[in-house]
Amino acid sequence: MNPIISSFENIKSLIGISNSNVKIIAVSKTFSYDHISPLVDHGHLHFGENKVQEAQSKWSDLKKNKPNINLHMIGKLQSNKAKEAVKIFDYIHSLDSQKLANILAKQENIYNKKLKYFIQVNIGNENQKAGIGINLLDDFYYYCVKELKINIIGLMAIPPNDGKADDYFKKLMELNKLLGLKELSMGMSSDFKIALNYETTFVRIGSAIFGSRS
Ligand SMILES: *Cc1c(COP(=O)(O)O)cnc(C)c1O
Repeated sequence: MNPIISSFENIKSLIGISNSNVKIIAVSKTFSYDHISPLVDHGHLHFGENKVQEAQSKWSDLKKNKPNINLHMIGKLQSNKAKEAVKIFDYIHSLDSQKLANILAKQENIYNKKLKYFIQVNIGNENQKAGIGINLLDDFYYYCVKELKINIIGLMAIPPNDGKADDYFKKLMELNKLLGLKELSMGMSSDFKIALNYETTFVRIGSAIFGSRS
């Protein structure tokens, strides 16, 4: 079996039947299409990228032939790239400012396309990290939903790497519940097994499927 397919199937079995609602976003950033194509041919439908331009060159043509493929923007989105992002992506996991939300809402109207959004939360309150602060989350959520009418489906976070992933995932799960949201984007190659204990529904897995990035 192709090593990428066997890694993918192994992760799927680790996630298990009891978590059959959990979707694996195969994070294909930095990898060429030739490298990831076995998983596309295998029928997998969720892929993650962190740069708009890279996503366009890798996926634009392919998505025309395979419209069931869902592309997830998981990286920092600059507002000047928002227009192109709305065209190519189906999900954005990194909604992290009012300015960006305003632009995305406007582009949705222009292209008559609705995306699904996760609000990125700065769950560890880290200076250098993107995401809405926990204290501002309620206001930001209601602004997006009531004023802009964009489709927020859940919260996303990249917790600090300090060995306390349990605490951060639990906190994000609780915040998600308080807002009545159904989806949760948390868990990467190194910590997705922990995230499964806190009701994650989308895990974002790159290196454990495709190998290490150079
Ligand atoms: C790169 C990336 C991932 C995947 O990371 P791995 O450790 O390779 O699984 C997940 N989420 C985000 C936001 C990323 O940028």
